[in-house]
Amino acid sequence: MHDAERISAKLGKFRPSLTLELKRLVGERMDAGLPVYDFGLGETKGDLAPHIREAGERAYREGRTMYGDPAGLAEVRDAVLAWLDLRGHYSIEDVVITTGAKQSLFNVFLAICNPADTVLFDAAPWVSYQPLAVASYATPIMVLPAAGDANRLKVTPADLRRNLRMRPHARLFLLNNPVNPTGQLYSVEEVEALLQVCVEARIYFVLDRLYWRIVFDGARFPEPRVDAETKPWLIQVDGMSKNFRRTGGLRIGWSVGPSDVTKAMVNLQSHYTSGPAIPTQHSAHAAIAEAYDPEMVRDLEAKRNLLRREAEGMAHVRVWPTPASFYSFWDVRPTFDKTTPGGDVLRTSDDVAAYLIREAGVVTASGAGFMQDGYLRISFATPDETIVAGVRAAKQALARLT
Ligand code: PLP
Repeated sequence: MHDAERISAKLGKFRPSLTLELKRLVGERMDAGLPVYDFGLGETKGDLAPHIREAGERAYREGRTMYGDPAGLAEVRDAVLAWLDLRGHYSIEDVVITTGAKQSLFNVFLAICNPADTVLFDAAPWVSYQPLAVASYATPIMVLPAAGDANRLKVTPADLRRNLRMRPHARLFLLNNPVNPTGQLYSVEEVEALLQVCVEARIYFVLDRLYWRIVFDGARFPEPRVDAETKPWLIQVDGMSKNFRRTGGLRIGWSVGPSDVTKAMVNLQSHYTSGPAIPTQHSAHAAIAEAYDPEMVRDLEAKRNLLRREAEGMAHVRVWPTPASFYSFWDVRPTFDKTTPGGDVLRTSDDVAAYLIREAGVVTASGAGFMQDGYLRISFATPDETIVAGVRAAKQALARLT
């Protein structure tokens, strides 16, 4: 057996998750005592809320550590329906609690795709969609906006229809709203139009709404229409990781969708995880059963504004507006073909990201990881001092390009 054959052809091609690679790079620079301004990771900082911590602690103390329902604890599933304001539309039989939103997405692909079915993603798909689809034997395809519209990576109904005509085996369209990495927010009309295309084509509309609480400027999250027409085709994925502080490591997510699909996912889950850890389910319950505290969202909005002010006048970069999420999206295509002080010519987002780390200690996520060479993702879920000093360092480094 050759070394290359020791791992399946399917998984052998995977690159490790981009975000973990960034963590490694940050660690390396810190070990070397060099300044690091970390805009790479997609996680809010701050303290875990005491009631979330205490619920987990109590579960341990009371010995709530035995196997539970593989679909998740009934009270957590019920709290999810309340959290999403879906109690009138679904029952707890339509909810699955999972090990992070990642597992919900994997459940979705595994439950509805046959080998060689196509799954359609939006134009800047989050890094793990593709590997999860491939691991489910589905073929991932990005829906590209019509030619010439690279300044707006939103998918329109016309884009989706065009792709569906080309892909008779399409099973689902996955929309992430708010969008990681672009920070864009599809409006309620845009969501409805895409949902309508899916319903008409009888494909699933999978909505990854993991950042849904983090919308700015007084806007509301655009809820998808839930009624008899849309319900058979609508699957919503959400979780604990982004809308609270310090909860990514709790590894709790959930999906809400049609009963038949949910049943298939629970069946599957009963064989491979038996549901997420019970104490963390209790923590999740404590988090979502209470009225949502918008403190973190206000804080992130102030950081968004700070970053926007600091980034004014930056050479060779166009900063996109950020109506939602905690990502600023930078169009760095104007840096291409420019020369660094060291004499290197920048040609890709990876080059620009590497230049910013080397020259300024500024860690970003290259658009290449999101299939969008030409952009950088900047996470502003980071201390204000990092935003001020980091953006200034990036500005100086960019000004040195010729
Ligand atoms: N979907 C999007 C858009 C994400 O950004 C992430 C995490 O970064 C996930 C899903 C996975 O979430 P989790 O960490 O809950 O598995």
